[in-house]
Amino acid sequence: MIGAGVVGASVAFRLAQTGEARVFIIDRSSPGSGTTSASFAWANANEKTPREYFELNRAGLEEHYLLRDELSGGSEADARVGAGASWFHPGGNLEWAGDAESLERLERRVERLRSWGYAAEWKKASWVNEYLEPNVAFPSPETPVAFFPEEAWVDAPRLANSLVERAREDGADTRFGATVQEIEAAGGRGSALRFDSGESLPVDTVVNAAGPEADRVAALLGRPLPLKPSKGMILRVAAGSPVGRLIHSQYANLRPDGPGHIAINHGSIDQELGSKTEAEGHLSHKLLEHARRVVPALESAKVKGIRIGVRPMPEDGLSSVGAVDTLPDYYEAVTHSGVTLGPLLGRLLAREILSGEVDKLIVPFRPDRFAR
Ligand SMILES: Cc1cc2nc3c(=O)[nH]c(=O)nc-3n(C[C@H](O)[C@H](O)[C@H](O)COP(=O)(O)OP(=O)(O)OC[C@H]3O[C@@H](n4cnc5c(N)ncnc54)[C@H](O)[C@@H]3O)c2cc1C
Repeated sequence: MIGAGVVGASVAFRLAQTGEARVFIIDRSSPGSGTTSASFAWANANEKTPREYFELNRAGLEEHYLLRDELSGGSEADARVGAGASWFHPGGNLEWAGDAESLERLERRVERLRSWGYAAEWKKASWVNEYLEPNVAFPSPETPVAFFPEEAWVDAPRLANSLVERAREDGADTRFGATVQEIEAAGGRGSALRFDSGESLPVDTVVNAAGPEADRVAALLGRPLPLKPSKGMILRVAAGSPVGRLIHSQYANLRPDGPGHIAINHGSIDQELGSKTEAEGHLSHKLLEHARRVVPALESAKVKGIRIGVRPMPEDGLSSVGAVDTLPDYYEAVTHSGVTLGPLLGRLLAREILSGEVDKLIVPFRPDRFAR
């Protein structure tokens, strides 16, 4: 397994759990420290189209509930990273529109999601203030607010670490701080990984879960995997607990981020992120100012961290999951929405690797659509 982000950790966890494979989890850094640590981590199928991608993400969201139920027994791994499935935070997501045009779009989306059987409700802002979020400043008490009650946020680094620990308990070996620099292929098969230290590790099968660097790992086998990298900013502030769930607004998106902390992100700020790091300080202040318009209680919030993540986005915006016809024993697990999809892809890809069975949910997202 190359990559111990939320995606690679999920695949490794399921492979090790079967006891049918000897699993090595390799990461040039530590588990969950890549894009997984710079994610808004909203588990959802809300704005996912086309229909097949929506269905994949809907199943991804459901898988989080199943995984929580499966793992909340409390193992040694739990004891190390916190009690039960402490990474999973259901509670839903609220969204409202800033103008008539966006309201029309939101109405169309809610209608489509309902017709696809996805939980989506309308509430009045006054109801939301009374029963869910007293600190959110809506344009008016009458503002229509869409509520997606099954959506959740995930402490993604915690999830990745917990899954790696569980894989270890099931016999997986780990190599952290080891960068894969070469994949020695014999007769087209990945037969050994060579690290930056010069050490070589013989393997039968390679899983590429290297996130935004998956294209470079694929290139080690001569495979082009076109990615369109897209940067995003996650601002972490110390602010008490002014919101209890995911909030999406025209100015800023917010969610809790562990006790006393809030995570903030917004597409408008992400679009302004260039290559110059000096702009990041300015943009983080702008983002916090925007968030204060939504939650005035953030007035005294203190910035605790700015994370810039690169979305591992295959060029068509969809996932690349499964075997590659021309490269025996090589698999890809590369996707945006990897927090939503990690646990599901972990289970489905482990099954494919061990039995050859390709689940119908991932049929539309095969790596072979990117031609050699
Ligand atoms: C700002 C932002 C907001 C987001 N919001 C959401 C959201 O709300 N919901 C959602 O579902 N998704 C969201 N995403 C996307 C999601 O975070 C990613 O899809 C997910 O984290 C990808 O996980 P990963 O395990 O594939 O990659 P990563 O977490 O990047 O893990 C890949 C790992 O591979 C390792 N690696 C790379 N190359 C090598 C090598 N050669 N040798 C050894 N190790 C290597 C890296 O060190 C890294 O740890 C967001 C992303 C960003 C940036």
